[in-house]
Amino acid sequence: MTPKRRILIVGGGTAGWLTAAHLAKALRLAERPHLELTVLESPDIGIVGVGEGTFPTIRTTLQFLGISEPAFIRDTAATFKQGIRFVDWGRAPGAAGARHAFFHPFEAPYYAEDLNLVPYWLLQDEAAREPFARAVTLQQRVAEAQRAPKRAGEAPFAAPLNYAYHFDAFKLARLLAERARQLGVHHVQGTVTDVVLDERGAIARLETAEAGRFEADLYVDCTGFRAELIGRALGSGFKSARRHLFADRALACKLPDPAPDDPDAPLESCTIATAHEAGWLWDIALNGARGIGCVYSSDHLGDERAAEILRGYAGPASRDLALRSIPFAPGYRERQWVRNCVAVGLSAGFLEPLESTGLVLIEAAVGMIAEMLPHSGPMEAPARRFNELMTTRFDNIINFLKLHYCLSGRSEPFWRDNAEPATLPERLAELLEQWRLRPPGRFDFVLDTETFAFFNYQYILYGMGWRTDLGAAREDFPQAAQAERLFAKIHRFADRAVADLPSHRSLIRQINAGT
Ligand code: FAD
Repeated sequence: MTPKRRILIVGGGTAGWLTAAHLAKALRLAERPHLELTVLESPDIGIVGVGEGTFPTIRTTLQFLGISEPAFIRDTAATFKQGIRFVDWGRAPGAAGARHAFFHPFEAPYYAEDLNLVPYWLLQDEAAREPFARAVTLQQRVAEAQRAPKRAGEAPFAAPLNYAYHFDAFKLARLLAERARQLGVHHVQGTVTDVVLDERGAIARLETAEAGRFEADLYVDCTGFRAELIGRALGSGFKSARRHLFADRALACKLPDPAPDDPDAPLESCTIATAHEAGWLWDIALNGARGIGCVYSSDHLGDERAAEILRGYAGPASRDLALRSIPFAPGYRERQWVRNCVAVGLSAGFLEPLESTGLVLIEAAVGMIAEMLPHSGPMEAPARRFNELMTTRFDNIINFLKLHYCLSGRSEPFWRDNAEPATLPERLAELLEQWRLRPPGRFDFVLDTETFAFFNYQYILYGMGWRTDLGAAREDFPQAAQAERLFAKIHRFADRAVADLPSHRSLIRQINAGT
């Protein structure tokens, strides 16, 4: 008889429930009576409940879990996300109100088989050319026109333009919990009060106040910032990223949608990230609400000033609204899998909200656990490999996030400190040197451990005004006329897409009405 195998997931936030549902599906829980998956969740400790933006990989995840797109959109107050509009990152707003802005779309630059448009854009006259993202894809113009990335009849999760979603984080955790339970996952309420280790230092059992003791073959720590198992009990060290990424606090609030019933009211299909004197603000349009948050470095900004910045941005509607303060330490655990315990979600690490990497890290971790978990025997070798891959992934995200901060020409101390060469990760500094003479390319990155591709770097670099000088190599790019025709074609396609695609508001209304 196959011996019983138990996986205990501690924590009922997005990480806990996503891990549970994913493992239930990937390990075929319903067909394996010897396998038991349980989520143990404290009835007293709430979930963090922030994180309203995500990444296109969520579509594959939802599809894998068997959650339909309309159900997801209805149940989580979701809207479509086509990228991020960055405002004031390159320079502070001018006296005359002139503002620096650029778009980071999900869609890759248009790529013709025999012609890479990027060098041709770089060789164009700087004063006359279109902004990078606008020149190389349709998506910026579609998002600017507040169009949806797809039509109503389009297949679920598919579209002509790449997209993700914005959603209510509490509602997402609830939806994932419901799906995990349908897939056969047990749910127990209890707060872990003690973690007992065996003679090898592995977890022998957990004690809870309400539900007694729990023993398992694998313990998944999804206890959020508390990191009860991986941190407190097993003492896995925390590697701070603060010398690169300074933000360590967020203030968050939710405003009601000012015009929920107006079918013509604009509804953004991108996150708006506006830089301020010591960090940035997120602005996310949900269906029926607007999530706004102020991210900042406590070394550079006091809490009161942060609240003032947030209320100044959100306007009079936020005057009496309670703000939630969320301190965080940017960084990660170097060993996220230790013996029979693996951390997923905030317990494994968190860098900051920029570019919405929380959920995507959960997806990466749980995908690996499902494939790497040995059917029997010791876990040391997969744990070593998992740790190697996850820490590289975290380091790569640090590089990408730092890129947003280190290129700014803003003069406030936060931004000046961010541009100090000593605060750049070595690899990023090395790449930036190379990107002075050539654009980022795919061989700069090892794709299996990357969340962001070379074109994501291109969007940020050229959006921020970085100069890659191809002047001396002009002769190497003789297809300028063909490139110009392609740029014009992208422009025409964008005109057509703006005319053909439904407004974002109307598509969301239609999906919610079930028509
Ligand atoms: P939590 O939600 O904190 O859940 C922890 C769970 O553990 C709870 O159920 C709690 O009851 C349980 N627990 C704790 N201690 C015990 C115990 N002793 N016994 C039993 N149970 C226990 N991610 C994105 O993808 N996009 C974003 O835009 C984004 N923005 C963010 C903004 C901020 C300010 C922050 C802080 C995070 C953001 N994130 C974002 C990250 C995202 O919020 C998290 O990755 C996600 O919510 C997962 O959280 P979690 O499940 O790990 O932890």
